[in-house]
Amino acid sequence: MTTNLLEFDLDGLVVFCEQLGEKRFRATQLFRWIHQRGAHDFDQMTDLAKSLREKLKGCAHVQALPVLSEHRSTDGTVKWLFDVGAGNAVEAVFIPEDDRGTLCVSSQAGCAVGCRFCSTGHQGFSRNLTTGEILAQLWFAEHSLRKRFATTERVISNVVMMGMGEPLQNYSALVPALRAMLDDHGYGLSRRRVTVSTSGVVPMIDRLAQDCPVALAVSLHAANDPLRSNLVPLNLKYPIHELLDACNRYLEHAPRDFITFEYCMLDGVNDQPEHAQQLISLVHAYRRPGVWCKFNLIPFNPFPVSGLHRSAAGQVAIFAKLLSDAGIVTTVRKTRGDDIDAACGQLAGEVQDRTRVTERMAKRRTIMLLPAEHFANDKKEM
Ligand code: SAH
Ligand code: SF4
Repeated sequence: MTTNLLEFDLDGLVVFCEQLGEKRFRATQLFRWIHQRGAHDFDQMTDLAKSLREKLKGCAHVQALPVLSEHRSTDGTVKWLFDVGAGNAVEAVFIPEDDRGTLCVSSQAGCAVGCRFCSTGHQGFSRNLTTGEILAQLWFAEHSLRKRFATTERVISNVVMMGMGEPLQNYSALVPALRAMLDDHGYGLSRRRVTVSTSGVVPMIDRLAQDCPVALAVSLHAANDPLRSNLVPLNLKYPIHELLDACNRYLEHAPRDFITFEYCMLDGVNDQPEHAQQLISLVHAYRRPGVWCKFNLIPFNPFPVSGLHRSAAGQVAIFAKLLSDAGIVTTVRKTRGDDIDAACGQLAGEVQDRTRVTERMAKRRTIMLLPAEHFANDKKEM
């Protein structure tokens, strides 16, 4: 079997080339051909010696993931479903805006965290993606969009690790993929334009700060531990105060001077004025000088088995105003690609047997299936 060169960051490719008796600058040339030019055929790489091209043909290849489907929304959003084998599929979503093009990338097939409001979480965990499978989403999206828009300019200016999976539970594959995104010989994205979104894997937040401090988004969703544990079971392991301490530590290394907190607005569960008050107290208790966090309120994207509902727009507006009035920078995320199910938490939706999955999860975490109202007015942690 030959090696897929998408599996490497530049340092990895240097090692690979050295094993072939090639110098570092050859690896750099190869890396540029692959990531900057989208080349997959070694014969295209005309400034590499013919002997090297022949050598590469014998031991390496550049292979993206098979595309199962592509959907284009009327708002310009494009969603690709990629086959990662054994019946698993992952998705990437391109979201064009006036001043940027953002690609939302998956890190795992399924997810082990099992958040109540997330359709990926309801699927359970299949497996980690490799570095090459993470990078293949960007490689394919960037170069197919360039062809579509008939441009040689960069189309994707931002990457968010907000597709399927918990990126910080796939750390060893994630970091080389991030490095290739940041590398000037790769995609050349600045650290502030690459965002890792996490449900709160505290030790890995600290490691990311050391290894590859890109922008950080933390999926908070609740300001007290009982409610957060009900929504995001990982909170049982890393409760809110540990998570916020980790955020504070991360800020010493972060490319931006704030952390983004994502907050999925669930009708009657976490969207009441008292929940906003709890959040305000929490943020103020952790306040560093100046603005140290921003809130992004995400209207819940419903899916059948969740038993949860999207907060009414008016409720979201009241919540946002309470936070803003308390000096917390707050935005409400626009939903994009609604007509193609490309919104957060709806990615690669088909659970083959939802009943079985739900029962399995219920056994694992009985707390998950408690009715949402049970926690709606919980003020214990205020
Ligand atoms: N596992 C990581 C990144 C992937 S999820 C994390 O949880 O942060 C990306 C974002 O989508 C998270 O903020 C998540 O809470 C949110 N999300 C998941 N399901 C959703 C849904 N059904 N509606 C709205 N947002 C959702
Ligand atoms: Fe996993 Fe994120 Fe979905 Fe939670 S919200 S189940 S961490 S993908």
